[in-house]
Formats: sequence, structure tokens, C-alpha cells
Amino acid sequence: MKHTAKKILCTLLVMVMCLTVAPLSGFVDFGITASALADSGSCGENVTYTYDSSTGELVISGTGAMTNYISPYSGPGSPFYYSDIKSIVIEDGVTSIGNWAFVNCRSLASIIIPDSVTSIGNFVFLDCRSLASIIIPDSVTSIGVGAFEYCTSLENVTIPDSVTSIGGYAFDCCENLASVTIPDSVTTIGDSAFRCCENLASVTIPDSVTSIGDEAFCCCESLQSITIPDSVTSIGDEAFRGCTSLESVTIGDSVTSIGDDAFRHCASLTDVYYGGTEEQWNSIVGNECLTGATIHSHTHSYTSTVTKAASCTEAGVRTYTCSCGDSYTEAIPATGHDFDGTKCKNCSYDKADDCSCNCHKSGFMGFIWKIILFFNKLFKTNKTCACGIAHY
Ligand SMILES: [Zn+2]
Ligand SMILES: [Zn+2]
Ligand SMILES: [Zn+2]
Ligand SMILES: [Zn+2]
Repeated sequence: MKHTAKKILCTLLVMVMCLTVAPLSGFVDFGITASALADSGSCGENVTYTYDSSTGELVISGTGAMTNYISPYSGPGSPFYYSDIKSIVIEDGVTSIGNWAFVNCRSLASIIIPDSVTSIGNFVFLDCRSLASIIIPDSVTSIGVGAFEYCTSLENVTIPDSVTSIGGYAFDCCENLASVTIPDSVTTIGDSAFRCCENLASVTIPDSVTSIGDEAFCCCESLQSITIPDSVTSIGDEAFRGCTSLESVTIGDSVTSIGDDAFRHCASLTDVYYGGTEEQWNSIVGNECLTGATIHSHTHSYTSTVTKAASCTEAGVRTYTCSCGDSYTEAIPATGHDFDGTKCKNCSYDKADDCSCNCHKSGFMGFIWKIILFFNKLFKTNKTCACGIAHY
């Protein structure tokens, strides 16, 4: 009897342990379980959702903005947090994807975003590790902070040319991201925007970008070369730190500061092609982080063209241009008139028009003067007119 009681107690204990430990470990490892998502509900003032748990499809419809949720780590977050959603269709009419909306949706593989959406909020797809591709419509103007952070499967992303800012951490740790084209509408690349994109082999920074944030491309281990366009004036701290495959860097001549350790732990970096002169390079704050590489600074080499031809009376312009874009001009002196009699051979100027002598006049005065000149000829005076032509 005592033995049986002990057995029952043991079984009870195991059952209690199973009941407590399982949800406990579940909480620690996985957060709120998938069953938390209802079949339908609200996710904005005029935005609702329906969810089919058998297919994992979530459809969001309505008009206006989705709710901006808070982090699920600091309170009750989005209803979609850590759900088993496999695909999302956002219907036309919805204008934003709210902050933290789909955080931790690790089964999410596809999403359709309509072109009524203008903003993708902060941390929207944080940790959506199955999301391999996304088409951002060209209505979207901003990609929020951490929007695609830890989307480790994301390989392809097309950023449309409507986007003007890429938030910090936007693509942080997108480990499979192989290439990204940043459109020339983007002016700032936020801090840590592409940090730890280990497969990112190529990236084009357009010449609309003026600043590259701290750690923006830190630990992009596949990046072999990078061109920083002439529009960029500052490169953030640790911007390219740990880019271990980086061999060459082209830096435009507008850069005035390079942040601390911007190119630290870039052991392969041997060549820096700088668009400015050696003197300009020496004036850049923080350039010492590149002393391990050979700096190929620029020496201007100009070719000249006549951009405005000189005329009889106006100076022309000769423009000297270097391949770097640097240019200066030089004046070409006016040619002066080339007279045949009182008329210029090259333009419509006639000296006679400016001459006060009556010999150029027509009508009665001209007739009288011609008679006077006839007598002058006899007395050998007035051989030359005031304008320089011969009177006879
Ligand atoms: Zn030049
Ligand atoms: Zn002339
Ligand atoms: Zn005259
Ligand atoms: Zn004259």
C-alpha cells in the first residue's frame, strides 16, 4: 500500500513536471504558441484579418494603416507574433504594415504587398527566417528600422526607386542576401542596415547617397569591392569592419570623414582608389584606418574643348575637363573685325555707321560733301576719312 502510494506520488510528480516544464520550455524557446492566432480579428482601425489555419494563409484587408504594435518582448504585441502563418496577402487599401506586425513568423515564406502600402514599419519581419523573397511595391517610401532583420533566407530584394530611406538594421543578418541594388532615390543608408549579410557579394551605392551609417556593411564577408560615390561625404564608424574579402575600395572625392575602424579587420584590402588628389586625401579625417592599403590618389588630366567660339567683339570660352569631373575654363580673346573697306568680312559691322564724316551720308549732304572732296583732291587735303578709309 505504502509502495503503491509512492508510485502514485511519483506518477503525479512526473505529470506535474511535464505540465509545468513543457510550457515553461515552450515559453523560453518559442514564445507564444501558434494557437494564439484567431481565425479573424482586427489589426487596425479599419483593417481586419482572416486566417486559415489549415493552409496557413493570412489575408489582411480594409483601408488605412495597420496598427503599430509594440515589441512582443516588452508587452502584448501583434496577434501574428510567432504564429504559423505561411503566406500573407495584404489587400489593396491597406496603407502601412505596422511596427512589429510579423515578428518571429518563422514559417512565413511569401507575402504579397499591394501598391497602396507606402510604409513598411519598424521590425515588421524581424526573424521571419523562411522568407526567401519579397517584392516591395514602388509606392513604398520608407523601410523601417530592423524591418527585415534576421530574415536569414532572404535572397532577393528589390528596393523600388520610391524608397528614400533605408532604416537602421533594415537588412541586418540577412545571411542569404546575395546582391542588392539600392535605387538612386535613397539618400541615407542607416546604421547596421546591411550588417552581417554574409553572402552579399555585390552592392551598388547610388550617387544619391550622402552618408553611410555606422556598421552599415560591417561583417559582409563576401564583399570584394565597393564603390563609394562622389555624393557621399561621411562614412560611419565600423562601416566596413570585418569585410574580410574586401580587396579594393573606390572612394569619391567628396568624403571628408571616415569613421573609427571603418575598415578595420579588412585584411584583404590592398588598394584604395581615391577620386581626389593626394592633398585632398591627406585632409580626410580618419583616413589612417586605410594606411595598410596602397592609396591611388588622382592626378588630373585635362582635355580641352571650345565651348563658346570667340566672335569679332566677344571673347569665347575654352573648357578643360578631367575624367574625374573636375573642370575649369579659359577665355579665348575676341578676334576683332577683319575689314574690307568699311565693312567687316565676318560680321555685319560697318565702320561707316559710326563715322562722323559726311562722306558716308546719302542725299543732299552726301552730294555737297562729294563736291567738297573733289576740291580737296585738287588741293591734296583730306586724303583719309575719320574712320580710316581713303577719301580718294
Ligand atoms: Zn581629375
Ligand atoms: Zn566683324
Ligand atoms: Zn569721310
Ligand atoms: Zn569715315
